[in-house]
Amino acid sequence: MLGTKVLGREDIQAIVRRLASEIEADLAGRSPIFIGVLKGCVYFLTDLTRLLRQPVEVDFIQVSSYGASTTTSGSVVLVKDITADVRGRDIYLVEDIVDTGTTLKDVIRLLEARHPRSIQVVALLSKPSRRQVEVEVAFLGTEIDDVFVVGYGLDHAESYRNLPDIHELVLETAGGEAPQTVAAGSR
Ligand code: 5GP
Repeated sequence: MLGTKVLGREDIQAIVRRLASEIEADLAGRSPIFIGVLKGCVYFLTDLTRLLRQPVEVDFIQVSSYGASTTTSGSVVLVKDITADVRGRDIYLVEDIVDTGTTLKDVIRLLEARHPRSIQVVALLSKPSRRQVEVEVAFLGTEIDDVFVVGYGLDHAESYRNLPDIHELVLETAGGEAPQTVAAGSR
């Protein structure tokens, strides 16, 4: 069941516009490639890069965590690799949400092995209270509380990605107990 609206489409648009201008100011002299972490990044990455007034390259990587789909575990499996050669390039790594930080840490380690010139993280959302490993987010949309959110690319069991707004997801419970929020994410 969809709960409270956390960010409406206008809020999202304003955040993406701000991030695009921050990134534009950072692009000078760089050899930029935007790498989206599938699948949650898709709506964010396409909106963001369309606002940039200079040509940039786009690529995608997909990883999945070991274990249960609603909890994130320590290490990830590479499901789909990038196709670009990123040696000497400036990577903008685009992620929907940073939760414990383990996904980004592993993806960054994977990409660092290909010798890019730089890697900077661009994240729409962050839940700082859930962080287990330190990850530097160079361009952050906004922080949110520890709630499970869906919409604008974020899913629950592959549903809700195409919602234009971001909502809290509330689990329906049998037997009239109080509804529970979902604890952690799937990709
Ligand atoms: P981390 O490795 O930082 O714990 O988890 C990052 C991934 O977990 C995100 O890319 C996202 O796929 C998923 N995730 C974390 N929190 C949420 C959330 O609130 N909603 C959804 N839909 N996915 C989440």
